Amino acid sequence: MQTNTPPPSIGSDTNNLSPQTAAEPPVHTVHTILNSKNLPTLPVLASKLLELTACEETTLAEIANVIAQDIALSTKILRVANSAFFAFPQKISTISQAVSILGTSAVRSLVLSFSFLSIGKKQKHSLFNLEQFWERSLVQATAAKLISEQMSNLDGEEAFTLGLLQNIGKLVLAITLPYPYNQVLEQLRKQRVRPETNDSIDIIATERELELRFTGITHTEVGYHVAKTWRLPENLLLSIRYHHCPDDCGEDGSQHKQIIYVAYLANILSLLFYTDQPERYHKLFRQQAKKLLGLSTVRVNMVLKTIDKVFGQSAHFFGVKITPVKPVAEILQEANLRLSLLNLSYEEMNRELIQSKLELERLTKELAQKNRMLENLANVDGLTEIHNHRYFQNFLDSEINRSIRTERPLALLLADIDNFKNFNDTYGHQTGDFLLKEFGRATKEIIREYDLIARYGGEEFVYVFPETSQDEAMLIAEKIRKHTEEYIFNDTLNTYQITISIGVAHASFADGAINKNDLIAMADNALYEAKNSGRNCVVLGSTVSKKKKRWFTFPGPR
Ligand code: GH3
Ligand code: MG
Ligand code: MG
Repeated sequence: MQTNTPPPSIGSDTNNLSPQTAAEPPVHTVHTILNSKNLPTLPVLASKLLELTACEETTLAEIANVIAQDIALSTKILRVANSAFFAFPQKISTISQAVSILGTSAVRSLVLSFSFLSIGKKQKHSLFNLEQFWERSLVQATAAKLISEQMSNLDGEEAFTLGLLQNIGKLVLAITLPYPYNQVLEQLRKQRVRPETNDSIDIIATERELELRFTGITHTEVGYHVAKTWRLPENLLLSIRYHHCPDDCGEDGSQHKQIIYVAYLANILSLLFYTDQPERYHKLFRQQAKKLLGLSTVRVNMVLKTIDKVFGQSAHFFGVKITPVKPVAEILQEANLRLSLLNLSYEEMNRELIQSKLELERLTKELAQKNRMLENLANVDGLTEIHNHRYFQNFLDSEINRSIRTERPLALLLADIDNFKNFNDTYGHQTGDFLLKEFGRATKEIIREYDLIARYGGEEFVYVFPETSQDEAMLIAEKIRKHTEEYIFNDTLNTYQITISIGVAHASFADGAINKNDLIAMADNALYEAKNSGRNCVVLGSTVSKKKKRWFTFPGPR
């Protein structure tokens, strides 16, 4: 399918598509190249075959005979003829079978492909990389084959050969004009590496400009003239000459034109693999394949999905050493990622870094807070939300130690709600719970910040008063008792009043050691006495004699 709009020359900006003209090269340059003693020649067999296939009277047997003379080449051809490259179900054992089964065109393409792949040798002091050249040509060949296979009227094998050959002019330039062409490559290399900007250069336009500047001719023209001396078929000649600017060719609507389009598209597709702008050539390939050849999305996808694998296979069949290419989807994914990183300016990157740092600080703070919360949970009583027994024990240990060090007094109070069992029985357990919680909160309000109130267990509470004399302890205990007696507990349904009994223990530590258990036992005994004295009162404990000591069990009933 053709349209009247010219395809963009890939040497131009894709947003401002203007066709390029294949300017007539200076005659002396063509002459110099064609007469160079270094000009590569086509192997004799390939030339002979081209001659034969150009003549209509040639028989298949004649063609087979010519090829069969070169045993090494025949073996190679049979290997490819029997491979997945042709996917032919029947085994092909002789060249004449190959010629009659696969057809003259396919066999000729194979001979040419093998012949071309043997052209050229490594140049000393040259930037031209021969292996890389054939590797890329093989990608183009694979692309051309896959594209033309999507078209019912095109020959895949011929397309393969033209793909392989479309840039032959570069090889010829590197061999016949080594010095100027080296300058082209050097400049190209310099221009391609532009770390300071994100601008991507148009490789084809740059290459064309540099070729003209340093050698006076483009590789497409060189390729065309050399291929002409090799007497390659017309399709190949035109594809070599116009694969960057198909519109210069004319020939609209002809099969020639379609083949030129295939070469043009194969070249774009190869750039997807070998430039740092894969997204650009991917987009261009899709657009142009649809526009020039009328390929559907499904067909285009088929080419894109299989090219990496088919390239690997082709290299294997033709015995070319290659670095495998990645699947197109993977290349595009990576390019996308690179692009998003590149798009970040220095300031943006800085901002992102600062934001990450702030976020990290916030998370660290949150973590510390959560750790503190967990620690608190371990020290807090679930019902009353005041400190629990465990915390009280630790607190008392450290306060006793401090008192011993500073020789300052310390007081301990044990308070027990009077007749709480009756209270529960009367108002229910839930109201009892409310009362315990409210009691803890209310009495916490009347002690100093560095004093401790903790739930000792059940309806018993413990207070620790650091740096507190015996008299002060008795005053505080009385204050708590009185405050409780007068306090109106209100759960919005009812109001309640309770009383408590308090046992007070006191230690000055100046006259020697008193241990924690003795101190608690002293308060406990005093509390026991307070209960016995009719409850709702405060009793000061005395040093516990071994005999009188009443160890109580926690959390069991008294
Ligand atoms: P006394 O004046 O001798 O201390 O009498 P009492 O009834 O307060 O003492 P007793 O040891 O006989 O009963 C304690 C009561 O405290 C019984 C128990 O159900 C209640 N109690 C203990 N822990 C809780 C609690 O967490 N919630 C509620 N609602 N009641 C509790
Ligand atoms: Mg009680
Ligand atoms: Mg009790």
